[in-house]
Amino acid sequence: MTIKQSWAEPYKIKMVELLKMTTPDQRKAALEEAGYNTFLLKSEDVYIDLLTDSGTSAMSDRQWAGMMLGDEAYAGSRNFYHLEKVVQEIYGYKYLIPTHQGRGAENILSKILIKEGDIIPGNMYFTTTRLHQELAGGTFEDIIIDEAHDPENEFPFKGNIDLNKLEALIQKHGASKIPYVSMATSVNMAGGQPISMQNLKDLRALTNKHGIRVIHDMTRVAENAYFIQQKEDGYRDKSIREIVKEINSYTDGATMSAKKDALVNIGGFLAVNDWDVFEEARNMVVVYEGLHTYGGLAGRDMEAMAIGIVESVCDDHIKARVGQVIYLGEKMIEYGIPIVKPIGGHGIFVDAKKFLPHISQDQFPAQTLAAEIYQDSGVRTMERGVVSAGRKANGENYYPKLELVRFTIPRRVYTQAHMDVIAESVARVYERRHEIKGMKMVYEPKYLRFFQAKFEKI
Ligand SMILES: *Cc1c(COP(=O)(O)O)cnc(C)c1O
Repeated sequence: MTIKQSWAEPYKIKMVELLKMTTPDQRKAALEEAGYNTFLLKSEDVYIDLLTDSGTSAMSDRQWAGMMLGDEAYAGSRNFYHLEKVVQEIYGYKYLIPTHQGRGAENILSKILIKEGDIIPGNMYFTTTRLHQELAGGTFEDIIIDEAHDPENEFPFKGNIDLNKLEALIQKHGASKIPYVSMATSVNMAGGQPISMQNLKDLRALTNKHGIRVIHDMTRVAENAYFIQQKEDGYRDKSIREIVKEINSYTDGATMSAKKDALVNIGGFLAVNDWDVFEEARNMVVVYEGLHTYGGLAGRDMEAMAIGIVESVCDDHIKARVGQVIYLGEKMIEYGIPIVKPIGGHGIFVDAKKFLPHISQDQFPAQTLAAEIYQDSGVRTMERGVVSAGRKANGENYYPKLELVRFTIPRRVYTQAHMDVIAESVARVYERRHEIKGMKMVYEPKYLRFFQAKFEKI
């Protein structure tokens, strides 16, 4: 008999946050008040909160101790120099500009590198990243491989860039119209899908040939490194730390939302290798964020981030982090629940079209499913389907191919027993799926409607 070798958390629990347990009647009332929109639920009424993994991680005792070492000087804080050293050593980028979170870095970088009429190719868009590119006068072009758009396709590197699509864009517009390729690791909108090292090497060769920069959205780089270690030839014996540094070595700079991988509740940065870009960014950060040695953060926040970055690239940490996501996904697969495959690094995406095939997209299957799961167990998830997609300029709904409910797992926050409760709740809802009816939208805000729309059961 071969005995299975399980992972376990590389930490023990020192302090706990008590959760409110609710009854079905209380959840029914909370849902009605929230108009069946999980964004409008009060956090207090939620038992297990999987709305997002952004800023929801648990800090370690060392990070909390670091908070007490905050040097709150306006200029030249000790914590800035610590963070700068960590970014250079762990990530390998030369120059650091701290920002209040990821979008602060995206704003500055887009303003510096993008001119009116430029084209920015990327492996699937992210909401804030694309918006800043557009606000700077650019147009985003999706160059992710086709497999990424198919929830059934089990290709292990669905975050890869289709280099033929990139070549075609260069042919069409000319390299001078492409300031950089916007390359994300662990592609969020595709379900946390990784990009391979080989693809990155090929991307570097092609962009070098044309003198085009590669800018890395490194929000979830450590999770991507884990998939390279596990699935790509030649990386099995390399550490996450080594792999992360190699990934970064094929890029010219990065924007980071430290609220994800880097295990802090707030923070981010821009990091570049090019002195000229750094000089301009250092100038611009003063306008939008704060002086270049704090960028909108307190000294203590920079200290917690510096410590969190080091913890985030430890093999034991990332194995348990992604291991927990995979544990939940496999449990759901056992119950026959349709999910996006392969399982990504930061959450599970349930296919609501397949779960509720009798509900048409006009009656919001993913929104309905998220509400039903909350009603069953107090687990909060998020709709990523027709509601999130919004309307076209002519007023018609976008009907996205993917109609998903997202279960995003905060880092170091929940236990395996919580994962069991989540999977069992979804399984219970799955058993009575034929009785579930769709919803109609009774209030629709003009912008980003998914945040505040309200619904009623049909
Ligand atoms: C969260 C996120 C961002 C934006 O970062 P914020 O810290 O929320 O401003 C950018 N890119 C990706 C992939 C993200 O997940």
